Amino acid sequence: MARYLVTGGAGYVGSHTVLALLERGDEVVVLDDLRQGHRAAVPEEAELVEIDLADRDRVRAVLQAGRFDGIFHFAALSLVAESMREPLRYMAENVGNTLWLAEAAVRAGCRRLVLSSTAALFGVPERIPIDEESRLGPVSPYGESKLMAERGLEWAVRLHGLRFASLRYFNAAGADPGGRLGEDHDPETHLIPNAINAALGLGPPLVIFGTDYDTPDGTAIRDYVHVTDLADAHLRVMGRLGMEASCRYNVGSGMGHSVREIVAAVERVSGAPVPLVEGPRRPGDPPVLVASNARLRRDTGWRPHHGELDRIVGTAFAWRRAHPTGFPRIRAAPERARRVPVPLGV
Ligand code: UDP
Repeated sequence: MARYLVTGGAGYVGSHTVLALLERGDEVVVLDDLRQGHRAAVPEEAELVEIDLADRDRVRAVLQAGRFDGIFHFAALSLVAESMREPLRYMAENVGNTLWLAEAAVRAGCRRLVLSSTAALFGVPERIPIDEESRLGPVSPYGESKLMAERGLEWAVRLHGLRFASLRYFNAAGADPGGRLGEDHDPETHLIPNAINAALGLGPPLVIFGTDYDTPDGTAIRDYVHVTDLADAHLRVMGRLGMEASCRYNVGSGMGHSVREIVAAVERVSGAPVPLVEGPRRPGDPPVLVASNARLRRDTGWRPHHGELDRIVGTAFAWRRAHPTGFPRIRAAPERARRVPVPLGV
């Protein structure tokens, strides 16, 4: 049994990783300011510490007191389009929070960190699939902020003996197959939940961002990886840090699906049409992003277990249908609500 700090553990990928750690028998402390995360997404077996990562003194105190075996760092601003409007905030927050967190970890003697990174590091890729040797060239401040964070952490590897892994994820999607957790962003910007909301009549018609890409059906192609498989990759890669000081992995299914293919999958799974309109391209969106996951498979034995598109869309659909308004918005005072149950079957 090990003890981990999970920043952003009340968010989408973070909460699924917390669940995987708890199921394995590890102890988990979640650090989240609940700006984007949900109190109700943190299982009661985990401790929730509600603070902002920018509050350096409190972060240091948590690290000093915690005696953690490692940190999973998810907390970040993560929307490409928003980063195009607020570039400096994205870079200042994402880079600053990551490096101060690492500084607090090193001071406290905690020397393993897995960073939630992104395919946005690769910008418009030269070749598909994208492997770890592909040229780095972000085309958004969001991607740039993660690249800068990775580079900063490399210095901590060299000079402080930090062990650090970066997981560059492609499109996280789906929901816990047990129905305990799902995707709940406000505002929701992602394709699969937006298409599901449109099919269920819970949101406006889906806008397809660009139908003139150089792809077979004219819409952009992405690599959708199930969030539970993604969580599994985090656990495996943390284990890998026992052997390696620094590593980076692309995490995707290795298969590409166009926006129209996603719409068709949502229609198959839901049995309802997806009302949609065709719109212009969204700034900062490359035409095709598909991962090579060969290194991750080779080094860690990882395999996608929920990789089929209909499985990904099916779990996302089941969660949204059961939770049409998402997680309950719990407004209790932090000191009374540090431990909260997952709303099973709410
Ligand atoms: N997309 C879309 N309509 C939406 C949301 C997304 O057409 O309402 C497209 C988007 O342009 C991209 C793909 O769907 O090509 C996946 O976008 P998403 O925001 O889910 O993830 P991203 O690839 O930006 O991380």
